[in-house]
Amino acid sequence: MTMTATTLRQSLRWQDVPLAVGAAAGTLNLRIGSVGQGKPVVTVTAGVHGDEGPWSARAIHQLLERTAMSDLIGTLRVVPVSNPLAMEADARCAPLDVLDLNRVFPGNPNGSHTERLAALLAEHAVEGANVLIDLHGGGSWCVNAFVFRNAEAPEIADAFDAPFVVDQASRATAMRGMGISGHAKSLGAKTTSVEFGGRSPDETLWARHLATGLRRALAVCGVLTLDSSLSAPKHAAILVKPTRVLRPSRGGLLIPAVNHTRIGTLVDEGTLLGTLVDPVTHESIEEFRAPYARTALLLLRPTMSRLEGGAMTYVVSEPE
Ligand SMILES: [Zn+2]
Repeated sequence: MTMTATTLRQSLRWQDVPLAVGAAAGTLNLRIGSVGQGKPVVTVTAGVHGDEGPWSARAIHQLLERTAMSDLIGTLRVVPVSNPLAMEADARCAPLDVLDLNRVFPGNPNGSHTERLAALLAEHAVEGANVLIDLHGGGSWCVNAFVFRNAEAPEIADAFDAPFVVDQASRATAMRGMGISGHAKSLGAKTTSVEFGGRSPDETLWARHLATGLRRALAVCGVLTLDSSLSAPKHAAILVKPTRVLRPSRGGLLIPAVNHTRIGTLVDEGTLLGTLVDPVTHESIEEFRAPYARTALLLLRPTMSRLEGGAMTYVVSEPE
């Protein structure tokens, strides 16, 4: 890109779609960006879960800023903050109805807040998209590093250069309701979901890694030209078996034994991941240890954190 080239960010137009919220504000705007025209149409969403933080939105911004308009082939739509009230609350779900946005698609324009939000996203972001890339991530309390790979479009997931790859099929059965990517898929779109980042000293590295992955993935989708200047993938993209969540049997304080640098790595069986202690006496209640001979760390809590009983504390798997 030359210094005078117009960027995607400069050419992007924001559409403000009113969304019903609480009594004080009445409505707020769901903001959907669009740039370019024609096919293919690719939508990138972030923040469907409000506690998964600003990192994915940051990556979208970096992609828009560093990509020249001359690299655009079709239409790119972006929704950096897909669940505004949940973001405001730093919570998975909007406090108004506490529904999981990623379980209520295609939504209901006459339903509760989150159902209306899903209906707006379905109409303005998903409708007409040939590809939907849904960015999730860690959050204030965890970091993660994997992609869900869809049998229809494995090449899109692979473009993200994730340390670990999970087959979407093994996850779909566990979902109780339809998510945004499931809805897009039901309309014939290719989809992938990415789980990168979260609060840690490496947060900017992961955002940049995600921005690079997005650039590659959008070229694979055919909405951007290939960018041969991108660095080569650095991860082995290990396909893992269906994931397993390690949860504490009761509430307490987690003292981590592995930090943010271990996310996306394999550890030996029995490796201490963290210890749950009594928050008053700091007596050990239980230990979390790597359960497999080669345990893939897909999600972990890198800092001391208070846990409720049953909280998602580690997500692990093993290579296929
Ligand atoms: Zn999520």
